[in-house]
Amino acid sequence: MDCRFETAETRRNKCAACYRQFNKVEHLVEHMKISYHSVHEPTCGICRKHCRSFESLREHLIGPLPKQECREIFANRGCKFCLKVLDSPNSRRIHQQKCQLSGLNGISGRFSNMGIRDNLTTGGGATTRGPQVVALACKMVGGGSDGSLDLCGRVCLIDEHENIIFQCYVNPLIPITNYRYETTGMRQEYLRDAMPLKLVQRKIQDFLCNGEPIWTIRSRGGKAKILVGHGLDHDLASLQIEYPTTKIRDTAKYPPLMKTSKLSNSLKYLTQVYLGYDIQNGIQDPYDDCVAAMRLYMRMKTQIHKIEDYPLASDPQNRNNFATWRQSELERMSPEQMLEISRSDYYCWCMDSSYSL
Ligand SMILES: [Zn+2]
Ligand SMILES: [Zn+2]
Ligand SMILES: [Zn+2]
Ligand SMILES: [Zn+2]
Repeated sequence: MDCRFETAETRRNKCAACYRQFNKVEHLVEHMKISYHSVHEPTCGICRKHCRSFESLREHLIGPLPKQECREIFANRGCKFCLKVLDSPNSRRIHQQKCQLSGLNGISGRFSNMGIRDNLTTGGGATTRGPQVVALACKMVGGGSDGSLDLCGRVCLIDEHENIIFQCYVNPLIPITNYRYETTGMRQEYLRDAMPLKLVQRKIQDFLCNGEPIWTIRSRGGKAKILVGHGLDHDLASLQIEYPTTKIRDTAKYPPLMKTSKLSNSLKYLTQVYLGYDIQNGIQDPYDDCVAAMRLYMRMKTQIHKIEDYPLASDPQNRNNFATWRQSELERMSPEQMLEISRSDYYCWCMDSSYSL
């Protein structure tokens, strides 16, 4: 907003979250009704402005059109990966070293013994509960007459500690017409060890549901696992797996990690910008994608946000917060009071830490 036109009135009608200013209080009320500002939005550590995504926060702090005061402080002691502001340039240096992760490519030599790795277990008592959060990624080969149809050729599943739970080559239901060797590294002969798609599907599905019938899986509680990944719709469709969206944490669809234009970022981009290393160069291993998605998830999950009893706009308790009959009441509220009753329209992953899974 252009500050030259700031008057007492527009200052009063300034959104307490994004700092947009309005000539009339009813316009601010309208704005609050559709903005879903909340404590879960990425927030500038300097001026406390709320942003819709980390990308817009990055623009606010670094550019191309930064806010000057914030830019200067951030340049001095802000972490360029997680966008936190530290106490001093020195603590920034120490923090940023830990915040920047490195890739695992080539370290383990996983390619040399790419047989079936299968540690899938389900059910049981507390001791055999297994990991509660798992990440999944596939690599696609081509089917159809022109090889453009995506078929799952490899799949990998890891736990929170980046250990492989399951990986194998997959034998699709229809013939592979293009192995896409340059990116998948796959050759026809590797499929001698491949598992049939139907078997892979059943194993992974059973593992995720962990003994719970799929129709009883709730967002919180229960034994079913949280599934992390990037663009999971596509991966799950290629494996013919169905899984409830309440248990899915998709880095391609999580609003704070999306572009300002509300389109998804690529996993390669997110890994480079938020974790500080490169993936998907040359031949790609689904393990690297699993690790990157899991690390992004962990970073989002461990954010410290205020814990609210009813954190979502969709929680029934919040339904009347901005209902029309309160218009006159809302217009008498201060911008801060309005922000206080505003709730998020997406499930922030920090809630996976603050509530029991
Ligand atoms: Zn706002
Ligand atoms: Zn949060
Ligand atoms: Zn700022
Ligand atoms: Zn950081």
